[in-house]
Amino acid sequence: MTKIFFSFISVCFLTATAFSQSTFSTETKKYIEYYDSITVFKNALLIDGKGNTAKPHQTVIISQGKISWVGDDVKVNIPKGAKTIDLNGKALMPGLVMLHEHMYISAHSMETRQANARQLPVTFPRLYLAAGATTIRTAGNIEPYSDISIKRDIDAGKYPGPSIEATAPYLEGNGSIFPQMNELKKPEDAIAFVNYWSDQGFTSFKGYMAIDKPTLKAAIDAVHKRKLKITAHLCAVTYREAAEMGIDQLEHGFLACTDFSKEKKENECPADAEQSVADINTKSDSVKNLLQFLIDKKTIITSTLAVFEGYTSAQPAPSPELLSYFSPDSRDFYLKLFARIKSVTAPTSDDKAFVNGAKMEKMFYDMGGLLTVGTDPTGNGGTIPGFGNWRAIELLVEADGFTPLEAIKIATLNGAIALGFDKNIGTIETGKSADLLIIDGDPSTNISDLRKVETVFRNGVGYNSKKLFESVKGKVGFN
Ligand SMILES: [Zn+2]
Repeated sequence: MTKIFFSFISVCFLTATAFSQSTFSTETKKYIEYYDSITVFKNALLIDGKGNTAKPHQTVIISQGKISWVGDDVKVNIPKGAKTIDLNGKALMPGLVMLHEHMYISAHSMETRQANARQLPVTFPRLYLAAGATTIRTAGNIEPYSDISIKRDIDAGKYPGPSIEATAPYLEGNGSIFPQMNELKKPEDAIAFVNYWSDQGFTSFKGYMAIDKPTLKAAIDAVHKRKLKITAHLCAVTYREAAEMGIDQLEHGFLACTDFSKEKKENECPADAEQSVADINTKSDSVKNLLQFLIDKKTIITSTLAVFEGYTSAQPAPSPELLSYFSPDSRDFYLKLFARIKSVTAPTSDDKAFVNGAKMEKMFYDMGGLLTVGTDPTGNGGTIPGFGNWRAIELLVEADGFTPLEAIKIATLNGAIALGFDKNIGTIETGKSADLLIIDGDPSTNISDLRKVETVFRNGVGYNSKKLFESVKGKVGFN
C-alpha cells in the first residue's frame, strides 16, 4: 500500500496544507468530486464493517486522508474550515476489499475453444473504483509489466483506480491451458520464479491448477521467506495437501476442491474434478473434517460465486445496462456463451456444485474460518469488475445464506485481515485510511443497495461513481 497522505498534520496547519501533495492528472480530476483537507460526513447511517448493526445519526470526520473521528451527530465538534457533507441518512460504509480480481477478461476462441485472456488496463481499474472497491488483490496476472504500471499510475494520480495488491504471474505446472502462463518444470524453477517476480515489485503469489506438490511446496517456502503471501486455484493438489504445506489462502471457495474426487491420482488434476464437487455430501464427516483441518491450519478461503454463477443454468439474463458497457466483440462472446450454457437441461453438475460450494462456504465461516470474497472477472465473459463485485457480495446473501451485515464484513474487514492490512483499512475506525462509500440506500438490510453507491472515497479523495462508469461505456473488452 502506498500512503499518499501524511498520517498527521496539526489542525491549525490544515487549511493551507500539504494535502495536495498528490498531483492528480487532468484525466483523474474529471472524476474527483471531493478533495478537501478535512471532510465531515453528518447524519450518516454508519455501517462499520465489523458486522455491527448500522447506526443512524452518526458523524465521521476525515483529515488528510485518514479517519480522525467517529461518533454521534450531537457530540461532534466540527473543525474550522471543514467541508461538511450532510448525508441525510444515506449509508456510509468502508470501501470494498476484493481479493480475486484481475486486469483481464476472457477472450477464448468460440470456434476452436482455444483459451485466451485479454488485458484491460483502461476500463477495469475504473469499474473497480466506480463500484466501491477501494483495495483489490489481482490474484494472478497475464501481463505483469502492465499490472505493475497500472498500480504505479494509479498511486501517482495519473489514472483513477483502486489501491492494488499486485499478484505475480501464475505459478503453473505442466499442461497449462492459457498461452500466457509459464510452466514450471521443477521445484527449483518455482524458487527462481518467486524471487524474480518479488524483485520486480509483486507482493503476492498464486499457484494454478496444474502445479504439483513439490513445486507448490517450494513456492510456498520461497514466498514465505520473502515474508509475502501465497494463494492458489488448485486442481492437481488437494486442499488438505496445500493446507498441510502451509499455503495462506485458497481461491474459489470449495469449487476447486479435488479432495473428494474418486479418480484423483497424486499430483494430477482429475477428470471428475467438477462432478466430484457436485457429488459431495456436505453433511458428511469427511467434509466437516476437511473444513476443521483448514481452520486449524488458518487457511483462508475466497468465495468467488459470481463467476461460477455464470456457468449455472439458473443465472439471470444480463441487463441491458450491463451489456451497454461491453465492446461489440466481448458482448458477442458473452452472449454466445451465455446462450450455450442456457441451452442445457437443468440441473447440471455445475448447478449442483454451485449449491454445494455455497453450503460449504457458510459451514466454513460458521465453524470459525476466515472467508473473503472476490469477483474473478473471467469465466463466461459476463462477470466484469463493478457489476461483478456487487454480484459476488449479493451471492454471499442469496446463495450462502449470510446476513447482509456478514456479507459486508466479509467484503471489507475480512479482506483486509487476509491481506494483513487491517490496521489501515477494512472498517470505519479512527486512524484508518479514509476509504469510504456513500450509498443512497441501506445495504445492511438490502445487500443490493450496494449498487446505489454515489461517491467512493479512496485515501480521503471522493470520486463520482456515475462518471467513472460512464467513462467506460461500450469499451469493456476493447481496452
Ligand atoms: Zn482468477
